Amino acid sequence: MTATIGTTERPLRAAIVGAGPSGFYTAAALLKQEVTVTVDMFERLIAQRGLVRYGVAPDHQNIKAVAKTYDRTAAEPTFRYFGNVEFGKDITHAELKEHYDAIFYTTGAQSDRHLSIPGEDLPNSMSATEFVAWYNGHPDYQHLKIDLSCEAAVVVGVGNVAMDVARILAKSVDELADSDMADYALAALAKSNIKDIYIVARRGPAQVKFTNAEIREMGHLAVADAIVLDSELRLDRASSAAIEGDTSMQKNLDYLRAFAEIGVTGKPRRVHFRFLLSPVEIIGENGKIVAVKMEKNELRPAVSGDIKPSGTGQYETIPAGLVLRSVGYKGVPLEGVPFDQRHGVIPNEVGRVIDLDTGKTVTGEYVAGWIKRGPNGVIGTNKPDAIESVNSMLEDLQKGKLTPAPEPDPTAVPALLQARGVRYVTQEEWKVIEAKEVADGKAHGKPRIKLVEPAAMLALLDK
Ligand code: NAP
Repeated sequence: MTATIGTTERPLRAAIVGAGPSGFYTAAALLKQEVTVTVDMFERLIAQRGLVRYGVAPDHQNIKAVAKTYDRTAAEPTFRYFGNVEFGKDITHAELKEHYDAIFYTTGAQSDRHLSIPGEDLPNSMSATEFVAWYNGHPDYQHLKIDLSCEAAVVVGVGNVAMDVARILAKSVDELADSDMADYALAALAKSNIKDIYIVARRGPAQVKFTNAEIREMGHLAVADAIVLDSELRLDRASSAAIEGDTSMQKNLDYLRAFAEIGVTGKPRRVHFRFLLSPVEIIGENGKIVAVKMEKNELRPAVSGDIKPSGTGQYETIPAGLVLRSVGYKGVPLEGVPFDQRHGVIPNEVGRVIDLDTGKTVTGEYVAGWIKRGPNGVIGTNKPDAIESVNSMLEDLQKGKLTPAPEPDPTAVPALLQARGVRYVTQEEWKVIEAKEVADGKAHGKPRIKLVEPAAMLALLDK
């Protein structure tokens, strides 16, 4: 007689694809259950933690402290890490189905949205996502070509990512030196010539997406003034009504008003907040960006209740040599897994993957985090989101809706990877890499000095 899934004789075997925050919250939720679960986590990169390592700003170390809880999960004896294993290449969808009762996709949103305007493909026009990955030492972006010799940069969008990239450009190297920013990025920023950073919003100050802590920081930069035009802070009637009782937005406005009042104090750099402007063209000369042409907008309440920007036919040009579009992340499809191209997510119902052709749920496949709901919310938002998906799986288990994996032997997957010549990195090995990074950092008064090159990480393990 075959043992029931979820018992000590036959634990429920779960695979998690993606070792970022949502992957770890999914693992934590799975390992907390009364049913016995074993978790194997697969990650394309060697390093785990996703956006906590490669997204969160290096000067926001307090946010990175959440990694301690991920470490506790990873230390569970029923958890295994398979870093340096790419889903779809090193291990396929069919193979995961063969070896696991439940698969959770937690791959986040690895791409970004575009503006689709002329000049967007010029050198030095890039997504904030790329710039963030570059300064955070992401192996795929370490060689990104970024020219900081110009005097002005335009950041398009007013979310927290826009605030991060603008702040990094506005800070002095002294303010960043004790962070875990990649050494090459720190060296490049030390030579930066950028003095004016324009954060450009297509709507008004009552529609910003950043949060209070992030705007407050802009008032405390050592070498940059935060500049807001008083004339752009006047709210139209619909915007005033929309934010009534919204204390967080009122606070954002208070900060912006305070910046307008303080004005220029003479610091060598300036962060300008500009509203009601949509970039319509990135202007280049001899292959270099020289300016961004903007159309001035006015706001129109839509039937849906949204307040939308509408072009006025009037234009303004901001001279700049660097453009960072920070208009949102976007998920990328996974081999053999349904994908909703329009929204950049894996279609799902309460975390159960949906086959778009049949409209039915795909047995044993689940999703959590940004690839489930889109790129919104802070890191902690992924915890309840992951719990919801794990609960859906448990409900399916109880109702007998899971198909047991045909080959549940826990030694089969490592054997398969080894036979294929895949040099996977285990949890113990990741901790060796991490210990080296932290020790190197300690010697220089930093939280860590990241190893960037995958080859250097593997050399450390294989020496
Ligand atoms: P976001 O908060 O969604 O902001 C995107 C911005 O892009 C909005 O201002 C949006 O304006 C603008 N935008 C979109 N399409 C545009 C277009 N075609 N032209 C001009 N502007 C356009 O996204 P995000 O900044 O990438 O952040 C993603 C998530 O990560 C957010 O939930 C954020 O809070 C979180 N995050 C948190 C932290 C932190 O806690 N410190 C740090 C980084 C990121 P509209 O509103 O007009 O659409």
